[in-house]
Amino acid sequence: MTTLTALTVKGLTTGYDKVNVLHDVSIDVAPGKITCILGANGAGKSTLIRSILGLTPPRQGTIHWQGRNLAGEKTHKIIGSGIACIPEGRKVFPRMSVAENLALGAFLETNAARVRERLARVYEIFPRLKERATQLAGTMSGGEQAMVSIGRGLMAEPTLLIIDEPSLGLSPLFVQENFNVIKQINTLGITVLLVEQNARQTLAIAHYGYVLSQGRVVAQGSAAELAGNDEVRAAYFG
Ligand code: ATP
Repeated sequence: MTTLTALTVKGLTTGYDKVNVLHDVSIDVAPGKITCILGANGAGKSTLIRSILGLTPPRQGTIHWQGRNLAGEKTHKIIGSGIACIPEGRKVFPRMSVAENLALGAFLETNAARVRERLARVYEIFPRLKERATQLAGTMSGGEQAMVSIGRGLMAEPTLLIIDEPSLGLSPLFVQENFNVIKQINTLGITVLLVEQNARQTLAIAHYGYVLSQGRVVAQGSAAELAGNDEVRAAYFG
C-alpha cells in the first residue's frame, strides 16, 4: 500500500505524570521530504519524538507509520520497522572506536557482509570517518562526533530518520556542515524529521515545517511560507 504520508500524528495529547505536555498535536511527515519541527526550549519537541518512538505513548490521538497504527507498539519494534533516531547531544560511546560506534547502529542486521556494505556507504558520505575509523570516538571533535552519531543512525538503513537538535552546542561551521549532510542524506531518498531551534538553517533545507509552542502547533506551512512568516521570524530567527 502506498501512503501519502510516511508518518501521521493526529490529535496527540500526552505528557508525564499528571501533566500533559503536548496538546492535540497533528503533523504529517511526507515520504522522501525533510519535515521540520521548530520550537523553543520546553516546547515539547523531545516529547513528540519520545511519543513517536513509543517511550511516552499517546494519551489521546494516534500515530500511524506507513499506514500502521503504532498504538501499544514497543520501542524496539518501532525502531525495527525502519525509524531511526539520532538523539540530542550526539551521544557517542567515547571509549569505542569510530568504526565500532557505527557498527552498533546496525545491531539488528546479523549478516556481516551487509553490515560491511552499509559501513562502506556511510564512509562514502563521511570520508572523514573512514580516515578516523580506529580513533576513539570520545577524542573526536564535536562536529566529528555529530558525524559519528548521524552515521550510526544511517547504519540502521532507516526509511525515516528523526534528528533531534543536530545544531545544539556546535560551532557555526559544523552546524552548516551538519545541515549539508542532512540535505545530502535526504537526496539519497531517506525521509527526515528534523527537530530544531535553529529556524534559519533548518528552513533553508526543509520542505515543510511545524512550529510548536507550549505543546501546541501554532503554525505550519512550506519552508518558504514559514521563513516569510513575521511571527516565526520574530520568535525564532534571533
Ligand atoms: P528542549 O529544546 O529544551 O529539549 P523540548 O522542546 O524538547 O525542549 P521537552 O523536552 O519535550 O521540550 O519538554 C517539554 C516539557 O515537558 C517541559 O516542561 C519539561 O520540563 C517536561 N518534561 C520533559 N521530560 C519530562 C519527564 N521525563 N518528566 C516530567 N516532565 C518532563
